[in-house]
Amino acid sequence: MSLNVVMLGPPGAGKGTQAERLSKGFGIPKISTGDILRECAMSGSDLGRRIRTTMDGGQLVGDDIMIEIVRERLARPDAAPGFVLDGFPRTVVQAEALDAMVAGRGPLTVLHLVVPMDVLVDRLSARRICEGCGANAAPGAAADARCPACGGQYVQRRDDSTAVARERLAVFERQTRPLVEYYRTSPAFFEIDGHRSPDDVTAAMRRVVATATPVAASRPAVKEERA
Ligand code: AMP
Repeated sequence: MSLNVVMLGPPGAGKGTQAERLSKGFGIPKISTGDILRECAMSGSDLGRRIRTTMDGGQLVGDDIMIEIVRERLARPDAAPGFVLDGFPRTVVQAEALDAMVAGRGPLTVLHLVVPMDVLVDRLSARRICEGCGANAAPGAAADARCPACGGQYVQRRDDSTAVARERLAVFERQTRPLVEYYRTSPAFFEIDGHRSPDDVTAAMRRVVATATPVAASRPAVKEERA
């Protein structure tokens, strides 16, 4: 049995930050489809160019490509003990494919981060990422702050401009929101209030994962937190 976590929620809800923390806490990889696609978009290949155009418009990349990317990633050895998926699935077709991919690995734990819409728009327009490694700037970082990991400059993500961010939120409502209903009846579906400090959100998520998932309770990181 592996620890299979899906982060669900609109752009700006904090999925990336929280997925990173869960990944470190439980010793399982964070798999961010947005990060994988941004890397591919920078590769200069034809596929990369097409992906970039789709992302810059705030639309979703096709299900077939996404499912193949995730299938390949989940097959790598580091994902054998589990994973935290950030940004996948985003459509019901992707969710159905994921169910088939993880059959035999144990249940999915789905964490739905809930944040009011007006807060999301503000967060997205304020968000800065490192142009070198893509890490998020700490909230409130100075305008001229540099990334502590690689020394890169912080810039706005191309798809965080107000117009594209609004489109992404609309795409979420249309194509991803139905996943809440898709997962709601599953025994390990949890709504987490994401409109509070990142530390409070992390603590709530870790509590939920540790109690809901027997396999998580045996992970050393969780024991440390309880001690
Ligand atoms: P994110 O970093 O998760 O906000 O994703 C950035 C962009 O990558 C999205 O707006 C989509 O264009 C694309 N993307 C990421 N994950 C997916 C997915 N699972 N399905 C389709 N497109 C995706």
